[in-house]
Parts: sequence; C-alpha cells; structure tokens
Amino acid sequence: QKTAYEIPLRLVGSEMCIRDSFSFMSGVTLKNLNKTYSPGSTDAFHAVKGIDLEIRDKEFMVLVGPSGCGKSTTLRMIAGLEEASSGDLSIGDRVVNDVLPKNRGVAMVFQNYALYPHMTVADNMAFGLKLRKTPKAEIQQRVEEAADTLGLTSMLNRKPKALSGGQRQRVALGRAIVRKPDVFLFDEPLSNLDAKMRVQMRAEISKLHARLNATMIYVTHDQTEAMTMGDRICVMKDGEIMQVDEPINIYQSPANMFTAGFIGLPQMNFLHGSVQEADGGYYFVSQATGADRIELTARLGEIARAHLGKPLVLGVRPEHFSACEADDPQAIHAKVEVGEPLGAESFIHLSAANGDKLVVRLVGIVQSNIGQSLSVKPNLDEVHLFDAESELRLEAPRVVA
Ligand code: ATP
Repeated sequence: QKTAYEIPLRLVGSEMCIRDSFSFMSGVTLKNLNKTYSPGSTDAFHAVKGIDLEIRDKEFMVLVGPSGCGKSTTLRMIAGLEEASSGDLSIGDRVVNDVLPKNRGVAMVFQNYALYPHMTVADNMAFGLKLRKTPKAEIQQRVEEAADTLGLTSMLNRKPKALSGGQRQRVALGRAIVRKPDVFLFDEPLSNLDAKMRVQMRAEISKLHARLNATMIYVTHDQTEAMTMGDRICVMKDGEIMQVDEPINIYQSPANMFTAGFIGLPQMNFLHGSVQEADGGYYFVSQATGADRIELTARLGEIARAHLGKPLVLGVRPEHFSACEADDPQAIHAKVEVGEPLGAESFIHLSAANGDKLVVRLVGIVQSNIGQSLSVKPNLDEVHLFDAESELRLEAPRVVA
C-alpha cells in the first residue's frame, strides 16, 4: 500500500493530465490487452488476460470483481502507471501505449486521497496546475469552480487534517476536476469512508458525472457501487472479463454463474440438480436426493430439453422465493438456520432437505425460529438455468423493454 506522500510524487513526476475542455472525443478502447508481472521469472503472473473492452465517450464504466481480478491493473494501464505487456490501448482515436501518462488526458483519483498534509485545500487542488505553469488567475478560477461544484468553498484555507474523510475525498476529486481531463479514473475512491459517507459520495460522484459529462472509469469490488453508479458494468474474474452490460441487464440476464452470484445481495441461490421429462412435462430434480421436484414452465422446459439428465443449476434470487404450504407441489422443504428481520424485508437463511443452503427474502417483518420448518417455492418466471460444468446460463438473453 502506498503512503499519502508517494502517490502525488509519482503524479508530479508524470504530470498527469491536461486538456482545456471536456469536449474531446474520449472513449477508451482496450484490444487484447495483457499484463504479465515479472515475465520470464518464476514469479511471473498473468494478471490481465487479453481483454477487449470499449468504453464509450462520456460513459460511466465500472470495473468490478473480487480482490485480485485485475481491475486496478487495468485502470493503471489506462493511466500509464503500468505498462501493458501486449495489446492496444486507445483514448479517443489515439493509440496511447507509448504516450506518457501526462499526455494521455487522464486524471486518477485514489482510495487514500493522496493529499499533501502541509498544504491547504486550495493549494492541494492548484498544485498540478502550478507545475504546468497555468496562469495564476486561471488556476484561481478553476479551483473556485471546482470548490463550488464540490461544496468546498468554505474550506479552501483548511489543511487536510481538519477535514473529514468525505471532505478529503472531495478535495482529491477537486484536484482531478481542475485539470479538466478527458477521462477520470477512480481506483476504489470510497473504500476508506464509513458506510453513510459512502452512500453520500456515491451520489455525489454520479451527479458530478452528469454535470461534467466526461468519460469516467471506476474500479470497485463493491457490487452496490457498480449497480448504482455505472452506465455499464464490466465484471472481471481472474484477469478476464465475464460480462459487460448495463446494471439491470446483468442483474436480470447474467451470462454465467459467476456474474449471477457476484451481482445482487444477498447473492443468487444455486440449486444443483438435473431436468427430467415425465408425464408430458419437465421437472427440475435435486441431484442430492431426488426430492423436491419442481415442475418447469414451458419457457424453462424449452431451454432444458437439450440438456435432460445433465448436471444443471437452477439460479433463484432471494426475492424470487415465496413462502408456501408444505403440500404445495412446487414446495422446497427446508429448516430455518437464521432469520434476519430488517423491517421492510426479512432474509431467512434455510437449509433444504437435500442439503442446499438457501437465502430467501420475504417482504416485511417475518419472525422465524431456528430449526423451524419452512416451505418455499421459486417464481419460475424469474429463475435461470445454468450448465453446471461450463457455468454458462442456458436461456436466451431477455429483451429489456
Ligand atoms: P484489489 O481489489 O485487491 O485491489 P484488483 O482486482 O484491483 O484487486 P490488481 O491489483 O489488479 O487486482 O492485481 C491483480 C493481480 O496481480 C493480483 O493477483 C496481484 O497480486 C497481482 N499483482 C499486482 N501488482 C503486482 C506486481 N507489481 N507484481 C506482481 N503481481 C502483482
């Protein structure tokens, strides 16, 4: 982890940024981009594996995935802080692989703010511009504009230690804004803030995007940030892209089990089993016990027909279960492990008779006791079937009106 002092020095060294307006066409294109750390050594590590990604001009793209999936490495390659091992990286219509960071027209906002502790808010924001010998009057105007945008006007003379975490992060944003970059790069900028401040800053960054109308690429491991902020989300795993789409499309039509499980809280339930044909219909049957036969709808039967008897996974989001009578033909019989009544909704953790663990979301305050029997059934209009081996979703993508 870098200290607050190291990063600005690197930025100063590379003098990242600058353009004079946000009007430049500044989509970002990654073509077969690779990063291998320590190539040729026994420690060689292929962190980014030939990814293709087109980030549109003025788009808010979120790179999301678990720790170590390569999202920061990708962002740092776009910034020029990390050299790509192979592949093409373009900003606007220029290939920038060999362009110095300072000439790429990007500004990066880091998780740890990276402010100079001995400088005032105004000086922190002005610092990069001073280095570039921007005229004094222009610096002042840009700093005042940015401070106004970020609600920092009354704090311009304070030092960072006299600011809250959220205010410090706003100064870090201000320092990027005054440079008027074509592309903003954010590396987990909200991770150091408490939960309430994160929610507030999330909204502020989204508003900022609308106001500045600039391309923004935002790295996070937090699926809620991805869902709420992104025009589109790029879900990554082990250096590869698993899916790129608008948040709701990913939620409703996950391409695979990884995306299905990563986006959505609590995560999607996965019931392991296979589909059998009987009595003119199709049934999903638990692999473990053959119990809890669920009759599939015509839509699911159509999809499952080509996969009869193969190991499949039925994916059901917690909100797509409802409580039912024990003798309901579609019932999954389970026992309560933990109940979490939250007020507007309750999450009930269940252990099904076949060993599957489930989380169901029931509306309102639902009191339950540990060990209590509970029968639930899935809303089959909303469930997904996955191939257990390839983990790919079997149904055709849904068309969103
Ligand atoms: P996190 O959310 O934890 O920051 P990330 O998805 O941003 O994760 P990266 O920082 O891009 O992940 O790292 C991707 C992989 O590359 C990780 O396994 C990491 O250990 C490895 N890695 C990163 N930097 C280096 C380096 N300088 N040398 C060797 N391996 C590295």
